[in-house]
Amino acid sequence: MVEAILLGIAQDGGRPQAGCNKSCCIGLSADQTSYPTSLGVISPSEVHLIDVTRNLASQLQFMDGKLPTHVWLTHAHFGHVDGLGQFGRETINAKGLKLHTSKSMHTLLSDTPQWKLMLDQGVFSLKEIVSKTALRQEGFSITPILVPHRAELSDMHAFVIKGPNKTLLYLPDHDTWQETLELHQCNDLREWFGQLNIDIALIDGTFWSADELAGRNQDKVPHPPITQTLDMLGFKRQGDPEVIFIHLNHTNPVYDQWGEEYTQVVEMGWKIGKQGMKFEL
Ligand SMILES: [Zn+2]
Ligand SMILES: [Zn+2]
Ligand SMILES: [Zn+2]
Repeated sequence: MVEAILLGIAQDGGRPQAGCNKSCCIGLSADQTSYPTSLGVISPSEVHLIDVTRNLASQLQFMDGKLPTHVWLTHAHFGHVDGLGQFGRETINAKGLKLHTSKSMHTLLSDTPQWKLMLDQGVFSLKEIVSKTALRQEGFSITPILVPHRAELSDMHAFVIKGPNKTLLYLPDHDTWQETLELHQCNDLREWFGQLNIDIALIDGTFWSADELAGRNQDKVPHPPITQTLDMLGFKRQGDPEVIFIHLNHTNPVYDQWGEEYTQVVEMGWKIGKQGMKFEL
């Protein structure tokens, strides 16, 4: 059996987010706290972790404390990598942990003194990922998929995890549907989901709508808002994958299970991610 576990559902800053004094973040109870997005994948012989957040210690508890034998990075934005230091001497003291990254991420790791030190100490053994080239292991595979996302530091890869029965897409960040679909030569989301042959899609739901970016340039929404994705998908149809929104900004109204936005997503047949959610693949 291959099991995937959603270890966090928040955008890079988590929820509560540092510096936010609004109702979204004030007075949250422990069970309303959300860690940045990350995914664990447990196969009979190996434990994979995709993205490493500062909440790694709490997130590993969703995997019964199992330590990863392989780590995969989608891209260099801080919420996806700021837990890497915990594999070093001060904490886990890993040796030769397989770290799968793209070439540009590899360069960034080697050029950043604190990560270079860990490489020199043999904490990680780097494995280069290439879009659409799968790593195959007994009963399952992981395939990186290049997607356009602000590439100031590194490029960005989504991952497709294929188990014996089901296939899951992990796409926490991308810039726009237009650019992602164009890169993969698809006309619409269903065509792309079909091309990837997936049953479950964990996708970028950072913002509900452009209105959430008050005070920022709303012409440049850095992620496709959920309202746009809903417009493109419409109601769930037979044969559609299970679509689950993740990487939610602290301001996103879908955190409120009783709110109209959450209800709209569910009524259309889709879901909002929950920390600790498990998928049998
Ligand atoms: Zn992110
Ligand atoms: Zn907030
Ligand atoms: Zn990002």
